[in-house]
Amino acid sequence: MTVAVRSDPLQEAAISSASIMRPEADMACENTDRRQANTDNLHGHHVYQDRNDIVYRQLYTITIIGPAVTMTASTPPSTSFTATRINTTTFLITEDDSYAEHPFIYAKLHPNAPLLILSDTGCDSPRDKDHQIVHLKALLETHALACNNGLPLNPLQGGRRRDYMIICTHCHYDHIGGIEQLATRQATIVASKHGRSFIEEDLATHSLCKYRRMRTPRYRVSHWAEDREDLKWPLSSSMSKVNLGITTLQTPGHTPDSLAWYDSSERHLYVGDSFYEMGSDGMPIIFPKEGDWVTFMRSMGALRDFVLEQNAVVEGVEEGWVEVLPRVKVGCGHQTAAADAEEMVEAVVGIFERIIAGKVPVVMSEEVRGEVYDLWKEEGEGVRFSVRAPRRLCEEARRHRGGAFAST
Ligand SMILES: [Zn+2]
Repeated sequence: MTVAVRSDPLQEAAISSASIMRPEADMACENTDRRQANTDNLHGHHVYQDRNDIVYRQLYTITIIGPAVTMTASTPPSTSFTATRINTTTFLITEDDSYAEHPFIYAKLHPNAPLLILSDTGCDSPRDKDHQIVHLKALLETHALACNNGLPLNPLQGGRRRDYMIICTHCHYDHIGGIEQLATRQATIVASKHGRSFIEEDLATHSLCKYRRMRTPRYRVSHWAEDREDLKWPLSSSMSKVNLGITTLQTPGHTPDSLAWYDSSERHLYVGDSFYEMGSDGMPIIFPKEGDWVTFMRSMGALRDFVLEQNAVVEGVEEGWVEVLPRVKVGCGHQTAAADAEEMVEAVVGIFERIIAGKVPVVMSEEVRGEVYDLWKEEGEGVRFSVRAPRRLCEEARRHRGGAFAST
């Protein structure tokens, strides 16, 4: 591909300022195939052509041919990851993995601490092994992203990188697969105190690595998070600490160690695998045999209370004026990255209530490792959730309700 542009310093300056002044509304942009994005630019389909020119400049060799400059495309490294910006400081990274789990990894560039906060680390197992970048660390530290102004998320700057803080939403293999490569001495690994024994005892089974023929990653949790704990950094130091504006919420149910976290400055809640929409993959909300619906319903009730509290917060009450804050959004471990949190938690509680009440049909049953798993799915158009779990979990929830509901 060859592109001719004017070698005009004023034009260069105009491009630079355009890249700085871009509207926040256009923060989301795809990364994986820059050549395609650039082709869109050439065809005039992309709105912020100038900004992307800044990005692509790093990828092109410039040859002077008289009064004009020719830029010849070098091939950008291919990768099994895709990155999108979901709010001012946070990026959604999705992995095209060999298990078709398509886990969601969230990466937050903290504005007040030299930290890159990661929510989970994916499978570390590419579907296509021929990609040049298949490990999360390499992506974060070396791969230029159009949605981060053409920079990697954690490049060397002044000889340093941001330290990693990894918040583990739970220890399933598709969420901890990439953790080992980032678990250095400088890294902080946060997991739920409620699920400490679940993580420390037989991780190979509890992570499901054993059943996926995957080596169980080795890592040491550096901080066991309490329910409604405000995280500070550094976590283990007597130095003065930065309040990160992040609150952890223990949400056992999917697994005993399920942990949600809330970013108060972005008003964004991350819930791991507690729930997500079916999305384009038609993915049900899945419970392993260590799941617990009675505990799950209690956790969802607490999560709903938390979101209601946050949505009720108002700021700047002054002389009758109230600043209305944006409603809390929710990002999940699969499929859903920025939905309305209150509305979604209500909907999730609703479908579980209906399943426990016997109002949702079982559309498939199968036996896995000695347990019968049911798949519940409502009929009709616009169905948003389905649930797959050991039948036993539903029966326990029904018994807990005093046997008020008939079993299916
Ligand atoms: Zn899971």
